[in-house]
Amino acid sequence: MAEKIKINPYENVKKIIDQVAAILKLDSSIVKILKSPASISIKSFPVIRDNGELEIFTGYRVKYRNSYGANSGAPYKGGIRFHPDVDLDEVKALAAWMFFKVEVMNLEFGGAKGGIQCDPKSMSPQELERMTRAFVRALGDEIGPFIDVPAPDVYTNPQVMAWIVDEYSRSHKGQHNFGVVTGKPVELKGSLGRGTATARGGDFVLEYAVEKGLIPGLDKLEDKTCVIQGFGNAGQPFANFMLKRGVKIIGVSDSKGGIFNPQGLDIGILEALKNQKKSVTEYQNGKAVSNEEILETPCDILVPAALENQITAANADRVKTKVIVELANGPTTPGADEILFQKGIVVLPDILANAGGVTVSYFEWAQNVQAKSWTEQEVDEELRKAMRENAEEVFSRAGKHRVNNRLAAYILAIERAVKRIKLRGSE
Ligand code: NAD
Repeated sequence: MAEKIKINPYENVKKIIDQVAAILKLDSSIVKILKSPASISIKSFPVIRDNGELEIFTGYRVKYRNSYGANSGAPYKGGIRFHPDVDLDEVKALAAWMFFKVEVMNLEFGGAKGGIQCDPKSMSPQELERMTRAFVRALGDEIGPFIDVPAPDVYTNPQVMAWIVDEYSRSHKGQHNFGVVTGKPVELKGSLGRGTATARGGDFVLEYAVEKGLIPGLDKLEDKTCVIQGFGNAGQPFANFMLKRGVKIIGVSDSKGGIFNPQGLDIGILEALKNQKKSVTEYQNGKAVSNEEILETPCDILVPAALENQITAANADRVKTKVIVELANGPTTPGADEILFQKGIVVLPDILANAGGVTVSYFEWAQNVQAKSWTEQEVDEELRKAMRENAEEVFSRAGKHRVNNRLAAYILAIERAVKRIKLRGSE
């Protein structure tokens, strides 16, 4: 595990930008823009804990790049993470991935990300609410419906988004504020379908790749096997979408470890355990496996849906699957990518495979600014169309440049971003 600690996800992003720059023969000035965040905010703010003691928390918000222009009214966009490991390099990498992701999906957004270094599992709901509100006050006018729009990420959820819109509204009277954040509860102008959108997007990309015969050995999904690392907002609904396609879920894990049963796991029971704030490891009818072992479990579809740097040069050789659907951001390192490519394992890369979340966030934002609501069917149909269209763009570049899907997705993103940046003149 020592190797994992050394991996800096932001350095990995920069390596990929260099690779694409060589392929597209980009000039060095544009590469400098693509490699540097536009704005970094580090906020240090006090929160009173339930025991009356004051604690100082650190929160980050990085606005990476906005190809439409920072003050164009096309806001920056990206989730907020609550996790003990949050640091500036992680948030920078997550913000960069958002930038490339919104370009892959051709959304009228810039890319941003935020996080608070904290241990949310050890905090009461009241402490989480006070901490969230304090961060929103510290950010002040740095967020806003046409400036920068947060969303959920690891260990944040619709409740946290509701606190954000409420706190923001207190200091922005007389304006329509719901577009300041997406992933809100539906009762507070959230979008139908947002909760399952990340998984649904991955499901649509996988469906499309199988339909087009792009995954060797996987000509259909029915009766195939799937293993999912991480059983939260992204992983849990993905299990259900797979079940609907006749796929058997044979392994899942969460931060405490994993569970495996070659006959298939009962997803309803696993969901009930998570709803009771228990771990999937408490599931009775299966074999306990570690989070390292879960990634090495033989299966047809492997889904990292937890954190970054999970499949590395150290374990990629032991991954035994046909396709990796990256619902997590940055789960695979560049070293691992090379090994997987050589082994013929197809990777559906994060900036495409998990882009359903930001796409439905865009739908939510669009509904908010127009004070309209779409039906769940409208959201699902529009999402399917967007995922398929942009997946086609990615896969066609993989063929044209003879590169893996990750590089192809970055090529698409960078082509689009560079066109816009050049049209606007120098930043
Ligand atoms: P979440 O907090 O809902 O769930 C995270 C899951 O990962 C939990 O089951 C947790 O127990 C598990 N986990 C944590 N540490 C782990 C570890 N070391 N090993 C295995 N499992 C571990 O978060 P989420 O929203 O589902 O996010 C998961 C990933 O998906 C992140 O990389 C996030 O950036 C990415 N993502 C999420 C969204 C979204 O809309 N929520 C969109 C795009 C990408």
